[in-house]
Amino acid sequence: MIDVLNVPRPTWMTEDLVLLEEQARRFIDAEFTPHVEKWNEHGMYDRAVWQQAGAAGLLCASMPEEYGGAGGSFAHEAVINREFSLGGFDSFGAPLHSGIVAPYILHYGTEEQKKRWLPKLATGELVGAIAMTEPGTGSDLQGVRTSAKKSGNGYVLNGSKTFITNGQHANLIIVVAKTDPKEKAKGISLMVVETDDVSGFRRGRKLKKLGLDAADTSELFFEDLQLPAENLLGTEEGLGFTQLMTELPQERLIVATHAMAMMERALRLTIDYVKERAAFGKKIVEFQNTQFVLAECKTEATVAKVFLDHCIGQHVEGKLDTTTASMAKYWMTDLTGTLIDRCLQLFGGYGFMEEYPISRLYRDARVLRIYAGTNEIMKLLIARSL
Ligand SMILES: Cc1cc2nc3c(=O)[nH]c(=O)nc-3n(C[C@H](O)[C@H](O)[C@H](O)COP(=O)(O)OP(=O)(O)OC[C@H]3O[C@@H](n4cnc5c(N)ncnc54)[C@H](O)[C@@H]3O)c2cc1C
Repeated sequence: MIDVLNVPRPTWMTEDLVLLEEQARRFIDAEFTPHVEKWNEHGMYDRAVWQQAGAAGLLCASMPEEYGGAGGSFAHEAVINREFSLGGFDSFGAPLHSGIVAPYILHYGTEEQKKRWLPKLATGELVGAIAMTEPGTGSDLQGVRTSAKKSGNGYVLNGSKTFITNGQHANLIIVVAKTDPKEKAKGISLMVVETDDVSGFRRGRKLKKLGLDAADTSELFFEDLQLPAENLLGTEEGLGFTQLMTELPQERLIVATHAMAMMERALRLTIDYVKERAAFGKKIVEFQNTQFVLAECKTEATVAKVFLDHCIGQHVEGKLDTTTASMAKYWMTDLTGTLIDRCLQLFGGYGFMEEYPISRLYRDARVLRIYAGTNEIMKLLIARSL
C-alpha cells in the first residue's frame, strides 16, 4: 500500500525498523492475504499462522533476546501492528499477544516465569490472552468475581470471563482474579493459566460479532481449576490492579496504532476508488464535495499521525503518561469512526457491499471505541488531570 499521508518519518523510525516494515509486509502478503476469505468465513485464523508469524520474527519483537524476542522496543510492535492492519488483518490477535500479554510476564514475572513462558510466546507455541472482562463487569475491573482461593500450596480458580480475544487458540491466559474477595483493588491478582492438559478449564462460545470476523473472541470458564503457587504472576498477591493500571497505557497506544492504520487504509482505498468511478460524465474525484470531504479526512488523519508518532516516541523513551495515552485512544478511535463513515459514503452502494474492504473497515472500526477501556473511561482518566 502506497503511503497516503505525507508525514515525515519520526525520529524513532530507524533504518532497522524500515527493514522490519518491509519484511512484515512481504510476510503478510505471502502468508496471510491468500487466506483472508477462508479465515473470515471460518471465524478464526489457522492455529499454524501463529508459529509462522513467530518464525518470521513478528511475535514478541519487543521482548529481550534472552527470552526469545528480537530485543526491540515498542516501536517494533507498532511497526508490525501497522502492517497487520494495513494488510486488513485487524482481527489477528498478535498485538495483544506480543504487546500486552508478554509485557505482563516480562515486567512482573519471576525469572523462572519469564524463562518458562516468554520464549514459547515468541515462537507461537503458546498463544496468549488476557481475561479481565466478566459477564457482570467490564469497565469496573475492581468488581471482578473470578476467585483464586488459596488451597494447600496453590490456588483454586473459579469464575467466568467473556469477550476474550484469542479465546479459542490461547493456551496461556492471564486471568484477573480476586485472591482476597473482601478487598476491591487490593484483592486482585494476576493468575497465569496454561490450558494444555489442565482440568477445570472450558472454552465457551466463539462469539458472533458485528466486525472482526476472523477474531476468535470467546467466553472462558474456570471450574475448580487447580493452579500451582508458581502460576501467580510474580511472588506477591494483591498487586494485580496496579499491574493492570501500569500496563494499560501501552494497550491504549496499540489500539491508537490500529486506528491510525485503519484511517490510512480507508483513505487509500477511497482515493483510488473515486479516481476510477464516474457519474454524470465525470470521475467522482472531480466533484468539489468529494475533494472537500477527502481534504478534511486527509487533514484530520495527518494531525492524528503526528500525534500518534509523538506518543510512540514518548513511550519508547518511557515518558508516555496515562492521560496522553488515553487521549490518543479516545480521540483517534472516535476520529476513525467518522472518517471511515465519510469515506464509505463516497463509494455509494458499493460501500455497503461485503466485497469492498471499506465495508469491513466500517464494521471492524466500531469496536475500537469500546475495548481496551471504553472512550468514556478514557475521558474519565483524562479529566483526572484537569
Ligand atoms: C471484540 C472485543 C474484544 C475484547 N477483548 C477483550 C480481551 O481480550 N480481554 C478482556 O478482558 N476484555 C476484552 N473485551 C472486553 C472489553 O474490554 C469491554 O467490553 C469493555 O471494557 C467495556 O466493558 P463492558 O462491555 O462490560 O461495558 P460496561 O462496563 O457495562 O459499560 C457499558 C457502558 O457504560 C459506560 N460506562 C461504564 N462505566 C462508566 C463510568 N464510570 N462513567 C461513564 N460511563 C461509563 C461505558 O463506557 C459503556 O458505554 C473485548 C471486547 C470486545 C467487544
